[in-house]
Amino acid sequence: MTQVYGRVALIGLGLIASSMCHAMRRAGLAGEIVGYARSEETRDIAGEIGLCDRICDSAAEAVEGADLVVLCVPVGAMGAVAAEIGPVLKPGATVSDVGSVKRTVIDAVAPHIPAGVHFIPAHPLAGTEHSGPRSGFAELFDNRFCIIVPVEGSDREAVDRVADLWRGIGSNVDEMDPDHHDLVLAVTSHTPHLIAYTMVGVADDLSRVTDSEVIKYSAAGFRDFTRIAASDPTMWRDVFLNNKEATLEILGRFTEELFALQRAIRQGDGDHLFDYFTHTRAIRRSIVEAGQDTDAPDFGRNTAPSK
Ligand code: NAP
Repeated sequence: MTQVYGRVALIGLGLIASSMCHAMRRAGLAGEIVGYARSEETRDIAGEIGLCDRICDSAAEAVEGADLVVLCVPVGAMGAVAAEIGPVLKPGATVSDVGSVKRTVIDAVAPHIPAGVHFIPAHPLAGTEHSGPRSGFAELFDNRFCIIVPVEGSDREAVDRVADLWRGIGSNVDEMDPDHHDLVLAVTSHTPHLIAYTMVGVADDLSRVTDSEVIKYSAAGFRDFTRIAASDPTMWRDVFLNNKEATLEILGRFTEELFALQRAIRQGDGDHLFDYFTHTRAIRRSIVEAGQDTDAPDFGRNTAPSK
C-alpha cells in the first residue's frame, strides 16, 4: 500500500485512534502520525508504548502542518476541539472524525472549519467495549464498514482520499447522508446498546434479591449483554444525547414489538413466537453470510482478538 497522507494528526488517543495508528502503520499509509490527548496520563502512555511518531501537548500544536486531522474524541467534545484547532489548520488539509453520530457532529464542527480546508466526516463501524490508548489493535477495522458522510459541497477528491485511507486500514467503504446514517445506526448499534444497559440494570436489581446468582449462573445471552454494557459511559451518554430522535423512534418500535411478544406469551400463542424467532434466525444467518460476524458458537468469543 502506498502512502495516502504525509502527516496525520489524531486528536484523542483511545480505542479508535490507537487502532487507526496500528492499522496505518501496518499498511504504511501515513508519512508521520502525530497525536494529542486531553490528559497527561494518556499522552504519557501513548509515548511509552510508541503509539505515534510524536505526541504533542496541545491539539493546536498537533494539527500544525497536518494533511489529515482525525477527531477521535467523544461526540459531545467534537465542537470544542474543532473550535480550538480551526484557526491553525493548514490550507488544503482535511479534517475528518470517527464519531458514532453524524448530524450533530457536523453541526458542531463545520462552523469551525475555515475556507480552504475540507471537512469529511466518517464513522468506522467497529469497536470493542475497551477504551484508552492500550486497547487498540491493527485488525479492528478489517472487513468492517467505514461510512463516509460527505457534507454539502464536499470536494470529491478529498472524499476519495479519506475513502482510500479507510480501505488501506482494512475497511469496506460506503457513503451515506447524515440523517440516514443516524437512523441506521440507531437500529444496528445505539438501541441494542440501550437494551443491553437496561437488561444488565434489571439483573442488577434482581441480584440484590438473589444474592450473587445472576453472576454465578450467568448464561451466554446475559454475558453478551454485560460485555456490551461495559462500554465507555462517556461515549454512550454522548451517543444518546446526540442521536435523540432516531433512538426514540426505534425504541418506540421496539416497545411495540415487545408488547406483541408479551401478549403472545401470555396467550400461549406458540405459533407467533415460533414464526417470529424463525424470521430473526434468518437475519442472523444473513449477517454471517455477509462476513460481518463469525458463525462460531459462543459468538466466536474464543476466536476474537484478546484485546
Ligand atoms: P476512548 O477509548 O474512550 O478514547 C476517547 C479519547 O477522547 C481519549 O483520548 C480521551 O482523552 C479523549 N476525550 C474524552 N473526553 C474528552 C473531552 N471532553 N475533550 C477532549 N478529549 C476528550 O474512546 P473511543 O472508543 O476511541 O471513541 C472515540 C470516538 O469514536 C467517539 O466519538 C465514538 O463515538 C467513536 N466510535 C467509537 C467506537 C467504539 O466502539 N468504541 C466505534 C466507532 C466509533 P483522555 O484519555 O485524556 O481522557
